[in-house]
Amino acid sequence: IAASIPRLKLSSGHYIPQVGFGLWKVPAAQTADAVYGAIKAGYRHIDGAYGYANSAEAGQGVRRAIAHGLVSRDDLFITSKLWNNHHAPAHATRMANEELGAWGLDHLDLYLIHFPIATQWVDPSVSRFPSWHADAAKTRLHPRARVPLADTWRALEALVDAPGVRAGPVRSIGVSNFDAQLLYDLLTYARVPPAVLQVEHHPYLAQPQLVAVARESGVAVTAYSTFGPQSFLELGNPRAAAVPPLMEVPLVKAIAARHGRTPGQVLLRWCTQRGIVVIPKSMRAERVRENLDCCGFDLEAGELDAISGLDRGLRFNDPGVTHGESVRI
Ligand code: NAP
Ligand code: NAD
Repeated sequence: IAASIPRLKLSSGHYIPQVGFGLWKVPAAQTADAVYGAIKAGYRHIDGAYGYANSAEAGQGVRRAIAHGLVSRDDLFITSKLWNNHHAPAHATRMANEELGAWGLDHLDLYLIHFPIATQWVDPSVSRFPSWHADAAKTRLHPRARVPLADTWRALEALVDAPGVRAGPVRSIGVSNFDAQLLYDLLTYARVPPAVLQVEHHPYLAQPQLVAVARESGVAVTAYSTFGPQSFLELGNPRAAAVPPLMEVPLVKAIAARHGRTPGQVLLRWCTQRGIVVIPKSMRAERVRENLDCCGFDLEAGELDAISGLDRGLRFNDPGVTHGESVRI
């Protein structure tokens, strides 16, 4: 099936497989097997991040797959992301090199600014993966570290190329969780334009204008949390619990039945058919296979529009919303 997954050409000239395997909330102890299993199932694109705290284990899975002859490095597209407390240029560079070391790779295919939020620096010896919090009491990290995004972007640009010296350690760079205004701003100063914009995108949060702006700007869009509330139930997110699961919405179920597919595949196809990259995460082998198989059928234009009509501007991954945490800002 790997051969049947379309690849999209990025503005960097490199190609991204349109279906990838997401690593958020994949427990570190199970990540090597999950990544190996995904590659064996046919995935060639793995979406990781420093903040997921499982890069070293993901790298083990990748290297095992290569050692077993399933793939070569060149077949794979590996993404990592710069965490918020590392936005200072020297830290951004250091994190890229640390991620390369953790994965055991000589280059990353894509390095994204994970959020347009520079939180205060936390020394890794104090907290290795600080997420949004400074301590076990869940005190929110100070979100104003006084590092402009332009400074961080210049550090990423320097990782892509070192003309006449060497190929950079990063093939393509991009951003995540940016809105249209931030994207426009970035495009005013970027010497290397962002290749990818990765954002929350599902029928409850379709963000059609943002997708259009990215498209017109030559920036490929990757959708995360394509199953909407599903990923956030285990986090106790009250907004996720308050809406019908997308896979149980009658419209989605009816379209799935019409095509002899699962609701999950319909939700993914709603993205891939519109030229959007998807990175579904699953810990279950059967779903891992099912999710990869989301490009080999076509929805009708009316079906795409009907699914888009479910939009309610409902964002689940919103760092501005806290649930009972103490906030120190
Ligand atoms: P997701 O892929 O939309 O959904 C994963 C959830 O759906 C899990 O609960 C999984 O459960 C379930 N699931 C997976 N396949 C299924 C299927 N075929 N049928 C029924 N249920 C299924 O959520 P996500 O992990 O939040 O998003 C995908 C990836 O996007 C992440 O892993 C991460 O790589 C990336 N992401 C990026 C950002 C960002 O800020 N840039 C934010 C969020 C996510 P099981 O595991 O039990 O199957
Ligand atoms: P998701 O929609 O892929 O998963 C949501 C939940 O749905 C998961 O817990 C999974 O168990 C369940 N699920 C998956 N497939 C299913 C199916 N077919 N049927 C029923 N349930 C199913 O969303 P996600 O995990 O939030 O994101 C996926 C990936 O996106 C992440 O692993 C990560 O790589 C990336 N991500 C990036 C960011 C970021 O800030 N850049 C944030 C979140 C996620």
